[in-house]
Amino acid sequence: MLYKSTRGDNHQALSAEAIKRGIAPDGGLFIPTDRILFSADDIYALAGMDYRARAARILAPYLSDFTTAEVSECVGFAYSDKNFDHPAVAPLVELERGLAVLELWHGPTCAFKDMALQILPHLLVKSMAKTGEDAGILILVATSGDTGKAALEGFKDVPRTAITVFYPAQGVSEVQRMQMVTQAGNNVGVVAVQGNFDDSQSGVKDIFADQAMSDVIAERGFKFSSANSINWGRLAPQIVYYFSAYADLLANGRIKPGQAVNFVVPTGNFGNILAGFYARQMGLPVHRLICAANENNVLTDFIRTGVYDRVRDFKTTISPSMDILISSNLERLLFELTGHDAFRIREWMSQLKLQGRYAVDTGTREKVQQLFWSDFASDDETGHSIRETHRRYGYVVDTHTAVGLHVYDKYRGATGDDTPTVVLSTASPFKFNASVTKALLGANEILGKTEFELLQTLSAFSGMPIPRGLRDLQNQPVLHETVVEREQMPQSVIAFVNKLTGA
Ligand SMILES: *Cc1c(COP(=O)(O)O)cnc(C)c1O
Repeated sequence: MLYKSTRGDNHQALSAEAIKRGIAPDGGLFIPTDRILFSADDIYALAGMDYRARAARILAPYLSDFTTAEVSECVGFAYSDKNFDHPAVAPLVELERGLAVLELWHGPTCAFKDMALQILPHLLVKSMAKTGEDAGILILVATSGDTGKAALEGFKDVPRTAITVFYPAQGVSEVQRMQMVTQAGNNVGVVAVQGNFDDSQSGVKDIFADQAMSDVIAERGFKFSSANSINWGRLAPQIVYYFSAYADLLANGRIKPGQAVNFVVPTGNFGNILAGFYARQMGLPVHRLICAANENNVLTDFIRTGVYDRVRDFKTTISPSMDILISSNLERLLFELTGHDAFRIREWMSQLKLQGRYAVDTGTREKVQQLFWSDFASDDETGHSIRETHRRYGYVVDTHTAVGLHVYDKYRGATGDDTPTVVLSTASPFKFNASVTKALLGANEILGKTEFELLQTLSAFSGMPIPRGLRDLQNQPVLHETVVEREQMPQSVIAFVNKLTGA
């Protein structure tokens, strides 16, 4: 399989190069040049496989420059019992006939980013070897919470890689902070930056753009890379669980071969739902992809009107992993829906950059609307959805999943569509336990309690065990205490590399 850029550069890359580079040389995103098609028989065969076998089967054609053994090895490392606390890896839970939840949070950090970040490091190491790269890879990540920990867990102790995560000293929850500062591994660094997430993020961008920094780490045998969600190596593994959910519905006799289903996806950067689009392109019978947003509802407006307008107030919500105003992966969808028209993509992306908005043509808007439907949930509606889901089904969901369930209710009300539907559950309720406990038990119940005490409260209430990755967190040794000003971020990287290499 060859990959090309959404911005029109003629260069075509094998998957190893696309994964190693992350972003195309012309600033566009890599997309596969060919369409892979699974027949009804191919899909039916997945029903008899476990998650690892399904993943190997679906990833193999996208990684045609990898051997079958290499793909299986990456999949085996990533989706092992050691990393995932459920034998199904991504289990499907039926709430009622016709409505199921796909739990994507059984990995080490209790959120769906593990599904991709557990495998990306292995794909990256093999990609480096294939492209003759002899430097080690140094990953830098700026995080507002979830991605940093998922990347640390993915890269820890992976040979020839190292990772430093920068987080805003005042901008993450206590659980998120403890998850990061207790991170074990001989190739990991964690640094708090004075300021907000933007300070960390712009600091990382400056380091990537600074040739002197690249030279310094090159002398120590390293090259910079990022692990962000536009890397094809993060997107492809997400296609797997759409097929896996469908295969489970087949295996359980809930649908017949060829029968269409809907997927509801709590959306921020448009990475997760875009994988659903690719699954459909590959022949998975998908009727509608329902894009669930919070009050940062830039995507809802886009899907309804064809106008993408980021010029609006940023809102801090109780579903913080969806507090995003620029959904980078949308560029890939537009490229596909315009029949690979790089000229239009460049125009829209440049308007987004210069004016903060763009409007797609009517034809493209109609194509979007044939496939996607969108609405959003306010924080009040999200809390209500957590309570309702518990009342109706005895099932506890996190805030992001609750957004999905609320939007699904709106979809049913608006369309009457009773196609069997899968709601993607993107985080364990324990990961956002303060908001979840407040919604279930009322504000008084959380008053004066630490986040760690609230884990116990939620566990007692729900009867669910506290996940491995969050249990005992407050008693783990703190291994990373560095706090820097934004200006000192480069020095902290150099100090980290010196420590790694004994320089
Ligand atoms: C990242 C994240 C999302 C949003 O996913 P995108 O791929 O960015 O659309 C939703 N929920 C949770 C819990 C997340 O961590």
